[in-house]
Amino acid sequence: MTKKFSIEIDFKLCKSCGICYWVCPTHAIVKGELEAPKIESNEKCIGCMQCANLCPDFAINIRQAGVRVPS
Ligand code: SF4
Ligand code: SF4
Repeated sequence: MTKKFSIEIDFKLCKSCGICYWVCPTHAIVKGELEAPKIESNEKCIGCMQCANLCPDFAINIRQAGVRVPS
């Protein structure tokens, strides 16, 4: 079973400091235009919460989207 996560970035709060895409171990968040974070893939997110915990502006919310049932 694989947990699914959904990455939410509030761009009204984000200051494009880059911490989230520096710490993300799976490159679920990457560097986008003008150094702003870009959500590359929710599928890559392992829910480690490092981005959300380290974001100085509390701009990131990681939600568990549900549990995938193996087919
Ligand atoms: S850590 Fe927070 S403020 Fe910094 S780029 Fe990521 S979302 Fe924006
Ligand atoms: S919770 Fe972890 S894996 Fe998911 S986007 Fe944040 S740093 Fe990357």
